[in-house]
Amino acid sequence: MSQQTFEDLLKLEPFNPEYVAREPFGLLGSRCSDCGYVTFPQRAFCPRCRKPEAEMEVVRLSPYGRLHTFTVIRQAPPGTPVPYALAQVDLDDGCRVMAQCATESPDELAINDRVEVMPAEFRSRGNEAVLGYKFRLISEEIA
Ligand SMILES: [Zn+2]
Repeated sequence: MSQQTFEDLLKLEPFNPEYVAREPFGLLGSRCSDCGYVTFPQRAFCPRCRKPEAEMEVVRLSPYGRLHTFTVIRQAPPGTPVPYALAQVDLDDGCRVMAQCATESPDELAINDRVEVMPAEFRSRGNEAVLGYKFRLISEEIA
């Protein structure tokens, strides 16, 4: 696993600039101008109200959420450290995001745990390091 600092990671190009913002770091989604529904990733039309006149505005998503569910991956291709947790997180502004959840002991995760998004190194198809995201556990009091 990479030991890059937060600042090192933010020097990487986002794997997709429609998903990840660098300065400041955060996830990007879209919000419906009509019903307020928030999506990740961005959508061109609202999947909830489906009104053709509704605009989908690009928004920064809340960095905080709760584990909706997760699974612990124990077998992976060579070069991928295991075990790791793959989680679905319900962000505070209402949309669901799937990503790894950083933890030393994935078996201690629990549904509804409080988490925060953080930068992570992804690998491009050409095996180049690019900026992605994962979650980490935080205490209930932080946010
Ligand atoms: Zn809508």
